[in-house]
Amino acid sequence: MLRQYELVERVKSYDPDADEALINRAYVFSMQMHGSQKRASGDPYFSHPIEVAGILTDLRLDDETIATAILHDTIEDTLTTHEEIEAKFGANVARLVDGVTKLSKIEAQTENERAAENLRKFLLAMSDDIRVLLVKLADRLHNMRTLHFIKSEEKRRRIARETMDIYAPLAERIGMYEFMNEMQTLAFRELEPDAYASITRRLELLHAGGGDRIARIGSGLKLLLSRAGIEAEVTGRQKHPYSIWRKMAERHISFEQLSDVMAFRAIVPEADDCYRALGLIHRRWPMVPGRFKDYISTPKRNGYKSLHTSVIHAENMRVEIQIRSQDMHAQAEYGLASHWAYKQDHQRPDGQVRWIRDLIEILENAESPEELLEHTRMAMYQDRIFAFTPQGELYQLPKGATPVDFAYAVHTDLGDQAVGAKINGRVVPLRTRIENGDQVQILKSKAQEPQPHWLNFVVTGKARAAIRRFVRNKERDESVALGRKLYDEVVARLPAQLGAEALALAMKRLKVDSEPALMSQIARGTVNDRQLMEALMPGSAGEDVPGEPRRAPSQREAISIKGLTPGVAFKLAPCCHPVPGDRIVGLRCFDEPIAVHAIDCPSLADGIDADWVDLAWGDRSDGGTARLSVILKNEPGALAVAAGVFGAHKANILNLRLENRDGGFHTFHVSLEVRDLQHLTRIIAALRATDMVSSAERI
Ligand code: MN
Repeated sequence: MLRQYELVERVKSYDPDADEALINRAYVFSMQMHGSQKRASGDPYFSHPIEVAGILTDLRLDDETIATAILHDTIEDTLTTHEEIEAKFGANVARLVDGVTKLSKIEAQTENERAAENLRKFLLAMSDDIRVLLVKLADRLHNMRTLHFIKSEEKRRRIARETMDIYAPLAERIGMYEFMNEMQTLAFRELEPDAYASITRRLELLHAGGGDRIARIGSGLKLLLSRAGIEAEVTGRQKHPYSIWRKMAERHISFEQLSDVMAFRAIVPEADDCYRALGLIHRRWPMVPGRFKDYISTPKRNGYKSLHTSVIHAENMRVEIQIRSQDMHAQAEYGLASHWAYKQDHQRPDGQVRWIRDLIEILENAESPEELLEHTRMAMYQDRIFAFTPQGELYQLPKGATPVDFAYAVHTDLGDQAVGAKINGRVVPLRTRIENGDQVQILKSKAQEPQPHWLNFVVTGKARAAIRRFVRNKERDESVALGRKLYDEVVARLPAQLGAEALALAMKRLKVDSEPALMSQIARGTVNDRQLMEALMPGSAGEDVPGEPRRAPSQREAISIKGLTPGVAFKLAPCCHPVPGDRIVGLRCFDEPIAVHAIDCPSLADGIDADWVDLAWGDRSDGGTARLSVILKNEPGALAVAAGVFGAHKANILNLRLENRDGGFHTFHVSLEVRDLQHLTRIIAALRATDMVSSAERI
């Protein structure tokens, strides 16, 4: 175990200004609080936080982080309170210790492996101070180093699994590759002891008697490139047992077939040199087919650029070679801080730890966390939020997600039946935006079904698709029902009783292959009355059936409305006669075409039980029928003047009726074909402008 003075000396060696007293106080306090608690190894518990602090001195972290590491288990495992920590060590350390404690609690809640990816992202998002995460990772690393002391195999495996699924990938994500490798190796040894032993043995055999193979191959590679005038920095390494194992498992190949046991990296000055170097390497050694990857022309999503290839080197050894320029290498190595650190500090004098120190500085000076996150890979998670079910299951959603999105993320049925939601115990409207960390409870009812207006606020593709699918199916059902009604009307008009046979024959004649398809064609008007009559009973429609005028081309051919699935039956409501330009809304009642009303139509009040559909006029609307009430003075020629106004505006009169005769005034109701609202407004204005018209109003 590190002694108090050793720990202080380590910190002083890289940070002479570090607060020595702070570290000393923390050391003594932690030792007192943990008292006689013991680790599974039999060591005093207190050795654990000290070792964690020691790991963090390797990263040259600041005094506050070191103190946090020493104190990190006090709130959780001893009687210490937040207030005590704050009083003794200041607000910063107290906040950091709290952060680590909070992360530990989240870990305890989750045993669901499926949620691992979400949990990793959540931990990252919660660690608003990167130091919290670094302490947590060092804590986990030390626990892995001492894992073998734990007696229960089940517990060991659970911890190893969690490390593999959550902490190693987290370490990778923020660029802590050494942490990642060690965690993976230790977890692998626990989870797959036989595979671990076998791979380690083979690696030893491979090197037995071969001398330093890696150095030999590496210098050969460097020489090859420098002869061609490319001054490359070449490094080589043996792959870690876990990554070898993963490759073997992924590709179903044996150790001997594996090309990735040794990997080399050639860092060349410029991007152009990469392809030249590749050519030289492929000419010198045969390449392994299928292993070449050009991440320069197609970078990975995180911006990673490099050429990867495998060649068959002398001694029949396959080796992997990565080729990249200095710029690309810097980008790949900086991890979390790649974006800004590289630009600020091209030289990077003290290696990878530098960016962490810079990062901490920025964290402390940044006005807001967002300012920093903007520049780091953490930004990846800023467009996500994380929310819990009442059972503590975690779901990841895009920012702006609502309880409806959440419900669909949990289960399609839950989304379909959502009627309301509670966020953190409070009832909220379904369109409420969920905040990070919210607990969301969906209230459901079997009687509920997806509402078309949800489409106005959901943000996830899953919710959108489910609602659309439902609405589409429902509209199809409605259109089949409407078609059947029209069909029955036509059948009733025919002189004979018709049975199933006639229908089957009619379908054949109309080349329709199912009854619902026929009904929906009737509803849409693709099969009209006359065609249907002819098909059911040839000759019945005749040339011109008396008293049965030819069906006028339906309005729906002349009008387009946005918000409706094409082909869905609708009608313009007879109560308000909306014309293009009016704000409109659709009411959907079972068994009826969707009724299109003007938004201020009084009869909408009766429609509260119907589904409301948001509609807008389409671009190709050819017009509509407006109804006007016009009061004319009882004078000769007054009606002619009004008719003249309609004529001058090219508005066709469809119907004109005298409604009321009252002393000196006559009230007429006029149905008028107009192009749109603007057209109508101009006509009304022109009417009002004449002396003969006392008033003109739309009904
Ligand atoms: Mn711990």
